[in-house]
Amino acid sequence: MSALEPVIGLEVHAELLTRSKIFCACTAEFGGPPNTNVCPVCTGMPGVLPVLNRRVVEFAIRAGLATHCTTAPRSRFARKNYFYPDLPKGYQISMYELPLCTGGHLDVLVDGQAKRVGLTRIHMEEDTGKNIHDAHGDASLVDFNRSGVPLLEIVSEPDMRSVAEAGAYLRTLRSILQYLEICDGNMEEGSFRCDANVSVRPAGTTALGTKVEIKNMNSFRAVEKAIAYEIERQSDALARGERLVQETRLWDAEREETRSMRSKEHAHDYRYFPEPDLLPLVVERAWVDEIRATLPELPAARRERFVRDHQLSPYDADVLTQRKDVADYFEAGVAAGAAPKEMANWVMTELLRIVRDEKLDRALVIRDWPVTAAQLAGLAKLVDAGTINRNTAKGLIPRLRGTGRDPAELVAAEGLAQVSDRGALEAAAAEVLAKHPAQVAEFRAGKERVLGFLVGQVMKATGGKANPQVVGELLRKALAG
Ligand code: ADP
Ligand code: ZN
Ligand code: MG
Repeated sequence: MSALEPVIGLEVHAELLTRSKIFCACTAEFGGPPNTNVCPVCTGMPGVLPVLNRRVVEFAIRAGLATHCTTAPRSRFARKNYFYPDLPKGYQISMYELPLCTGGHLDVLVDGQAKRVGLTRIHMEEDTGKNIHDAHGDASLVDFNRSGVPLLEIVSEPDMRSVAEAGAYLRTLRSILQYLEICDGNMEEGSFRCDANVSVRPAGTTALGTKVEIKNMNSFRAVEKAIAYEIERQSDALARGERLVQETRLWDAEREETRSMRSKEHAHDYRYFPEPDLLPLVVERAWVDEIRATLPELPAARRERFVRDHQLSPYDADVLTQRKDVADYFEAGVAAGAAPKEMANWVMTELLRIVRDEKLDRALVIRDWPVTAAQLAGLAKLVDAGTINRNTAKGLIPRLRGTGRDPAELVAAEGLAQVSDRGALEAAAAEVLAKHPAQVAEFRAGKERVLGFLVGQVMKATGGKANPQVVGELLRKALAG
C-alpha cells in the first residue's frame, strides 16, 4: 500500500472572559461553590427568556478580525437539541446555518516554516453545566455554575498534515485569544478545549478519508499524543485491510490510547432550528470598524518587530511573544535600558523557568513576577557593565523579590561588586596554584579541562565575587610562565 497522509481538523471551544454569562446576568467567573452562580435563565426554568450579552458578540468579532474572518452583517442563533443532565433546557443555544464569522485563516510556524490553516467558522454558544461523578457515593451531581458561560467555537478546515502542525495551530490560536484578552487559554481548567478530527488517506490523493473525532484531552501534550496515537491506529487498521468507521473516541490519558465512545452523531440528530427566543443578530459595519481599531499588535507582528527592532533571533522572538505579558515585560526591561539580547536571555532562562515552576502563568497576566522588569533590567545592566558576574546576579533574584529594591543599590550596600582588580586576583590565583600542584602539572601536560577547576577555586577564595573572565586570563598567564 502507498504511504498514508494524516489529515487533521480541530474544533476549539474557548470560554470568554466576560463578567457575566451569555444570556443572563450571573457571573461567568470560574469556581465558586456548586450552584451558586445560577438563576432561572441558566438553569432552564420554564417561561424565562434569554438576553444576549453584547460583550460576547464584541469578543467574537475581535476573534474573527484577528483571524481574518468575514463578520456576517446578519447571523442567527440556533437550538441544538439533545438530552443530557448537564443541559437543563434540553437544548443548547448555539449557531448553525448562519454563524457570526466565516472564512478566516491562521498562519502558523512549524520548524520555522509558515503554514496557513483555514478557519471554517467562529460562532458563539453557551457552555453546559458540569456532571460530577464519584463525589457522593454512587450518585452523580450537577453543578450549573458553568451553564451559560459564553463560548466561542472555532472550527478549522481539515488543513493540518502532522501532529506538529496541529500543535502549532493550537498554540498560535491560544496566543491570539490571550493577546485579545478574551480567553485565558487554560487547558487544564477547561477554558480552552480542543476536539481533534483525524483521518488518513493515501499520500497524493485529495478525497478525505473517514474521520474520527477525539475528545477528552486536557493539555497540549494530550492533544498531540492523542492525534499521534490515532494516526497510527488508523494506519494499522488500513494496513490490515480493515474498514474504518466514523465515530467519536475518547482519549484515555492514563493508558495513552483512544477508545470508542459512540458512533458519530449527525447534524440531523440534533434537530437544529432557529432560536425563536432571540432576534436575528444584526452587526453594523461601523461597530466592526470600531472594534478593529482597538485590536492590539498580534503575536506574529510582534515577533517580526522583535527580530527587526531588537535584533533577536526568530527563535527568541517567538518564545518572548507567545504571551503578551511576557512580551510586555521584556519590552519594559529594554525601555529601562537593558540590552535586548541580555534582557531576552534573562527572561528566557531564569524568569520563565521560575514562572513555570511556580505556575505563575495560569492567569492572563502574571502579577507576581519574581522581579520587576526594571529590576531585571538593572541586573542585566550590572552584568553587562562587569560590575557583578552572572552567578551573583542569579543569586540576587530571590533577594530582590517583592522588595522593589534597586539591584545597583543592593550590590553597593552589600559590597557584592565583582573583583576585577588584577592585583588582588593575581595574589588569589598564585595561592590557588601553589595549593594544587597536581592540577597544575596536569594542565601543563595538556589537560585543558583542569583550568575550570582552578577558576572555581579562585572564585571560592574570593567569595564568588571574582570576575571569572579575568581569573581565567590570569591563570593561563601564570600557568604558561
Ligand atoms: P461534523 O459534521 O462531523 O461536525 P464537520 O464537517 O463540521 O463535521 O467538521 C468538523 C471538523 O472536522 C472540522 O474541523 C473539519 O475540518 C474536520 N474534518 C472534516 N472532515 C475531516 C476529515 N475527513 N479528516 C479530518 N478532519 C476532518
Ligand atoms: Zn444565570
Ligand atoms: Mg461540526
